[in-house]
Parts: sequence; structure tokens; C-alpha cells
Amino acid sequence: MDNLIICARCGSDACYVDEVNQDIKTYFCYGCGFQTNSLMKEGDVFFERQLEILPELYKDLLNKDDDGHIWMPSTVNIPTQGMIFANGSSLSDWGWAAVKAVPVLEEEKEKYPILGKEGQYYEWRMDMTTLQMFPERDFIEALSYIGAIPE
Ligand SMILES: [Zn+2]
Repeated sequence: MDNLIICARCGSDACYVDEVNQDIKTYFCYGCGFQTNSLMKEGDVFFERQLEILPELYKDLLNKDDDGHIWMPSTVNIPTQGMIFANGSSLSDWGWAAVKAVPVLEEEKEKYPILGKEGQYYEWRMDMTTLQMFPERDFIEALSYIGAIPE
């Protein structure tokens, strides 16, 4: 990963930049777990649409940096490994929830049909009993908990 820069939100040096095209860049910070992109600005149609579908906690956590980019908590969903999302009741009481994926067993596969695909079943499911909470600054620990990065 050579596209790492200083995060404009938390100041860590683990912000990954990806250039989608000459007008749009995406920013994903492994330090704080927040992300933004060139379209995440007040008044931008893309941003306004995002706002409509964001859960309340995500809205509360939105955060504007000096360049006017609005950062929001990331949601990670890797079907074969697990997921991570911001979870909590308020700004002062939230963290990263990490849940591990487990293989669907032969005897339970009927419970996990793939909609619209007759006779096909998911091979992995999210096991909510593995849910573990991590504080905001430990986003990277949450990633390693689900195996998305090496320990
Ligand atoms: Zn950051």
C-alpha cells in the first residue's frame, strides 16, 4: 500500500487514498475507521443521497475536515470473513462492532437460501454470537479480529 497519507480527520498516517478518476478520490482511514471521498461535501447530490440512507448514529458521527470533506464511519462487509459497523446509542457511547463469518453447515443450509436462486445457499453467514466491541481508535484491531488484515 503506497497510497497512504496523513488522515485529515484523526491525524494518523494510515489513510488510504484511491483515485477513482481525475475528479474523484476516495479516502479510507485505517487509523480511525472513517472514510470520505471527493463528493462527500455539503450540497453535493451524492452526499445528500447518502444522508437519506444513513443510520442515525452514522449521521451523528459525520465530521467535516478543513477541506470541507465530510467523513463518515466505515462499514466493512466481507462475506467470507465478517463485518464491522459503528454501533451504539449516542456520540458518547459507541464503538466498532465486529462480527465473524462462519461456514454454513450442511444441516442448516436451508435457513440461508440465496434469494432468487432456487436451490442455492449461502456458504457463509455472520455469527452474531462472535460480536465484539472495539473502541473508536481500535478500528484496526476490529479488522484483525475478523481476519481482514494479518494479526
Ligand atoms: Zn483517520
